[in-house]
Amino acid sequence: MAKTKTTPMMEQWEAMKEANPDTILFFRMGDFYEMFGADAVRSAEILGLTLTTRSKKQENAVPMAGIPHHALDRYLKEMIKAGVRVAICDQLEDPATAQGIVKRGVTRVVTPGTLIEESCLEGDSNNYLASVAVAGRQAGIGCVDISTGEFFVQVVPEHILGDELEQMGVSETLVPVELMQEGKVLAEALFARSVGLITRRDGYEFSEREGRIRIKQHFGVDNLAGFGIEDSPAAIAAVGAILVYLEETQKISLTHVRTLKRLNRENYMILDRTTQRNLELTQTLLAEGTGMSLFKVIDRTSTGAGRRLLKNWLLRPLIDLNHIRYRQEAVRELLTEAATREELREILSGINDLERIMARITTGRASGRELINLHSSLLRLPDLLKLSESFLAQHLIDLSGMIDLLEDVTALIGRAIVAEPPLNLRDGGVIRSEYDPKLAELRDIASGGKDWIRNFQQEQQQFSGIPSLKVGFNKVFGYYIEVTNTHKDKVPSSYIRKQTLANAERYITQDLKEYEELVLGAQEKILALELELFAQVREQVAAEVERVQQVAHILAVFDCLQSLAEMAAVQGYIIPETGVDIETELTGGRHPVLDVSLSEFTPNDTAFSHSGALVHIITGPNMAGKSTYIRQVALLCIMAQMGGGVPAEKARIGIVDRVFTRVGAADDLAKGQSTFMVEMAETANILNNATSRSLIVLDEVGRGTSTFDGVSLAWAITEYIHNKVKARTLFATHYHELAELGMILEQAVNYNVSVREWGGEVIFLHKIIAGSADKSYGIHVARLAGIPAGVTERAREILDGLETQAAERDWNIAHDGEVLRAAAREIQSELFAPQAKANDRLVLELAEVDIDNMTPLMGLQKLQQLVDIAREYMK
Ligand code: ADP
Ligand code: MG
Repeated sequence: MAKTKTTPMMEQWEAMKEANPDTILFFRMGDFYEMFGADAVRSAEILGLTLTTRSKKQENAVPMAGIPHHALDRYLKEMIKAGVRVAICDQLEDPATAQGIVKRGVTRVVTPGTLIEESCLEGDSNNYLASVAVAGRQAGIGCVDISTGEFFVQVVPEHILGDELEQMGVSETLVPVELMQEGKVLAEALFARSVGLITRRDGYEFSEREGRIRIKQHFGVDNLAGFGIEDSPAAIAAVGAILVYLEETQKISLTHVRTLKRLNRENYMILDRTTQRNLELTQTLLAEGTGMSLFKVIDRTSTGAGRRLLKNWLLRPLIDLNHIRYRQEAVRELLTEAATREELREILSGINDLERIMARITTGRASGRELINLHSSLLRLPDLLKLSESFLAQHLIDLSGMIDLLEDVTALIGRAIVAEPPLNLRDGGVIRSEYDPKLAELRDIASGGKDWIRNFQQEQQQFSGIPSLKVGFNKVFGYYIEVTNTHKDKVPSSYIRKQTLANAERYITQDLKEYEELVLGAQEKILALELELFAQVREQVAAEVERVQQVAHILAVFDCLQSLAEMAAVQGYIIPETGVDIETELTGGRHPVLDVSLSEFTPNDTAFSHSGALVHIITGPNMAGKSTYIRQVALLCIMAQMGGGVPAEKARIGIVDRVFTRVGAADDLAKGQSTFMVEMAETANILNNATSRSLIVLDEVGRGTSTFDGVSLAWAITEYIHNKVKARTLFATHYHELAELGMILEQAVNYNVSVREWGGEVIFLHKIIAGSADKSYGIHVARLAGIPAGVTERAREILDGLETQAAERDWNIAHDGEVLRAAAREIQSELFAPQAKANDRLVLELAEVDIDNMTPLMGLQKLQQLVDIAREYMK
């Protein structure tokens, strides 16, 4: 900004600005937060404010914009959405009593990952701040939600860092600035990923040494053994960096961030971001309003904390059989015991978002209402304990056994805070009079006023002999005795004149003056005392944060279990059998979302087994129901491993360690159009990472290229999965040539979707049946639809002719299995076995590849180059 004559206040502003770079400074002045200079311009842009200038006379006047202080939350929300950081600078002393310029300071820096304002947060989602640190080939990912206190850390191989972060859905990610330079592995892993706002921080904040110190300090421990991260420098560094950042932005130590959990990927089914999206787990692919995510459909929780936990359960299904059964047993009990479930739901519906309330209590931001909300929630606990007497499932018993009634906390709040406190503490009337004798006395003085005034008025009327004499109060002049001009002569000499009106005079007496001071003083004293008492109560409650958080977590788990049971009851789900082998059998399975939204959904059966079908190839015309069916199977596995019910008549599910999905170009609604490159990268990911316990869902692979490439690749990929990966696979394709694989490969089977004629119209039965689809399906459908027989017969002739020609032409081998297999083998050898017979150039190129020094992106570029060479070679 232009330097003009600076005032002391602007100097203050400049110092503050300097201490908080990369932020927009909200500078408190009176009832407003003001922004100056470039900050004002940017804020005006984002918030749609009018720009003014500080002094209209000056040239180069400094631009200025402001917002009313009480609307701060609303504006903050917009600023954060626009991806900026806001430093909030408050007045640190009362301007009325301040000597000279009011002392100001930045009380908080608000960033997307450090929001705590209720109005800025989504109730059903966590708001995560992540940090990443790399040590050797390991990456540590720290992750905290300061609006709830949840804090966890995990260690993953460096090359999957980006995947992992993206999967967690974070709002902001802290990274060491040194690692974000171009060409660095970390930079490449994070760019073009959805990891929220990337915040670059000094490298030393990510050092293991610094991390150890910070962690010990924050959690008040002597060593890190209790967190299970002692052996991992990357984890320690990542956690440390978060703690540094929180202290810097929050300006206070966050006492509600009390636990740090190490998360192990191996304990959960892995659902990468692509799969989360393709299966529409928490978001729909199409624009809002056109469909429902699985989460939206199955969410029957009653509390905010329950909702957030259920989302976590959905995105991280279990893979440990015992753990799954432990949950299932509880869900089954709540499913069969409808009355218990009803009562549990009723109790939970009276429970507020305890995690978030505690976050605001410990950070000193909670109002009286929030303490009352905590109080009324905790008062439901005895009912829950009573209900728990009938529980039989171990999980339910274990949970109830951990309930702490927190009677001391409820007693304190009940004693201290009125039942319906005002929204704003400064309005007064938050603390009960009975809570503090001093407060009661002051209130007596302040409110006894009416009687006192009435008596005083009567006395003065008699004393002066003026019956119309009145005692009144006005904000500017305080208490007064008013005498109309008619009785002016009778005014006693002890009255002191205060104010002259048109037809009356106002006076004061010594007694009245003393009384006035007492009352006015009382009001002020009451407020000050109330604020002090309230702060004390809040602190006392804050001290019990760990106990409240524990209860909050128990309640959230109860809520998730009841939600799973309620959903099962409403939609007629069954609790599936689960096992560790791959045997999977679904009878009458339904797509959980369409099951709710369609009036008639056709159930389908699915069976995977060692002895027979492992790879299912599903052919059929457009709109037959292929995509729906293959997703349905994946969704049912996920739901089963959450521990809840599944929409089926009968289900036995072999635990899946990971679901992979690949949705071909034409079906990839999320990305609009996907390039062949992306398709191959995603497919490579599947081939490299799937295990024999995975479930692979492929929808139209090989569409992003020519028919020749497409069929050959799809063929080779299927063979590879069948022979090498041996994972349960559902492959929907419109290439009916691939049905041949179902006959050749031992553990592959063909399915298609049946279609019938009904009253001259084509009806999609959406029924998956054994066998492959008719090649000339289009013509068949056309006949069913009423196209004259002459036309369809001619069409068939043309088709036959084309097929014969095609078989003779070497570029189109679409219907000749032998040639196709030969081509597929060739492609396969290039893709998966470079040392095999291949073009010399390819071999040379490959021999030079130095994988150890390659980033994933470089790898993909190399692959593209190799594919280009291969294409060139095939021409
Ligand atoms: P495809 O992938 O074969 O082109 P989709 O799976 O996209 O077909 O299904 C097309 C439409 O058919 C869906 O939007 C849905 O409305 C309907 N549908 C699919 N499966 C069923 C089913 N089992 N029962 C009833 N309707 C279904
Ligand atoms: Mg489809």
